[in-house]
Amino acid sequence: MRQISVVGVGYVGLVTAACFSDLGNRVLALDVDKERIKGLKKGVMPIYEPGLEELVERNVAAGRLEFTTSYSEALAEAEFVFICVGTPSGVDGAADLKYVRSAAESIAKNMSNPLVVINKSTVPVGTGDWVAGIIEDAQAKSIDFAVVSCPEFLQEGSAIANFMNPHRTVLGSTDRDAADKVAQLHLPLRSPIVITNLRTAEMIKYASNAFLATKISFINEIADVCESLGADVKEVAAGMGYDPRIGAHFLGAGLGYGGSCFPKDVEALAYMAEEMGHESDILNAVMKVNNDRRQMAVDKMDELMGGMKGKRIGLLGLAFKPNTDDMRDAPSIDIAAGLIKAGATVRAYDPISMEEAKEDIHPDVEMMPDPYSLAEGMDALLVVTEWNEFKNLDLERIRNSMNEPILLDGRNIYEPARIKELGFRYRGVGRGYHGAAEESQGEVLRAHAN
Ligand code: NAD
Repeated sequence: MRQISVVGVGYVGLVTAACFSDLGNRVLALDVDKERIKGLKKGVMPIYEPGLEELVERNVAAGRLEFTTSYSEALAEAEFVFICVGTPSGVDGAADLKYVRSAAESIAKNMSNPLVVINKSTVPVGTGDWVAGIIEDAQAKSIDFAVVSCPEFLQEGSAIANFMNPHRTVLGSTDRDAADKVAQLHLPLRSPIVITNLRTAEMIKYASNAFLATKISFINEIADVCESLGADVKEVAAGMGYDPRIGAHFLGAGLGYGGSCFPKDVEALAYMAEEMGHESDILNAVMKVNNDRRQMAVDKMDELMGGMKGKRIGLLGLAFKPNTDDMRDAPSIDIAAGLIKAGATVRAYDPISMEEAKEDIHPDVEMMPDPYSLAEGMDALLVVTEWNEFKNLDLERIRNSMNEPILLDGRNIYEPARIKELGFRYRGVGRGYHGAAEESQGEVLRAHAN
């Protein structure tokens, strides 16, 4: 049984710890947040992730997974330590590495055996070398160690499945033996393993996230053009996605990306590029298009309602995406603030993230217990997060309980023709063909016919 320690039990660390223990390793998971560890010892999850609670419970019961706040306990017998602490955006857009620094110093001061230090946090290119320097400087006596970069690609909401069936495992190190040892740990996952140098591994993570964010901003720009020209972006994306050179993923037009990764990672990559003298026109455009989506939702609502002063609007969904409680940089935060600023009263319902949202969202947003009580007396509803449970609501009941049956579908989860049949004033994003720009579609057809 190998012994692994995991530093930081957030979305990445807790999934990493639970999954590696499920693969038969002995895992000690550490966090500086005493409340988190106290809760975990009692079986209380600090985050919502489907399947995680059962996985943790099973491996704790089997004696393979334990939690601690003590670095010396965590490192006493460890061969591997995964750093999974947060790397939020700093003031200027650069990644803030204070948690990585503190984790590296604590590891250095408490290690008692040779150790492979594996960095899973998303960190700027060059951080692996920097971490190695910190450990060397902070060690009380010289003990062998190697630093390996192993960027994490999981997605919240499907994190366990992503971890257990990765598309690839990327490992970067100046120490090939250490990289091979970490590759051995990942062998049961049967994924392709890319072994490269530290900086390249770190860059693979940023380039991957920036590319996916670019796909989202690209399709959102296409959505706006579709809307004006009378095309339906959902069908355009489907038609594009069948081409394997393009791929169907990350082509959902709507309110743009949010969460704890894409916004900060695109910004950090643009910052790194600029530091090296490369002004990134593409990344700057990706960020601008994405930021504008939030105001686009507010403007669309204003247009649909003919002004929002004194109007009541219900938000369906708050989390930045379905199947997570994560509210970090969720579009709902800016959208709710924009609607309230324009004079509307805002209510919201989210299946999971309402407790979490209270810290981030405008304090005047009232939380409702379900979608039906949310809709009662509302002048409009706005779909912010595409939770599955919103896809099959009793829309007739919802329409009857609303003051005005206006529905802005920010994630294109409904079929426009059906919703209109139900008597809603409906608008999606970029759905010119079935949606608001139906008339202009006729004009385009005539223009083509001429
Ligand atoms: P998180 O904020 O959910 O968790 C970080 C944890 O680290 C917290 O529990 C915090 O208390 C703990 N921590 C901070 N400093 C510590 C220290 N010195 N010692 C021990 N614990 C400490 O963060 P996350 O979402 O899990 O992200 C972690 C890293 O993984 C980030 O770099 C992120 O960019 C990257 N990542 C995240 C995701 C995702 O979907 N969340 C996906 C891929 C990569």
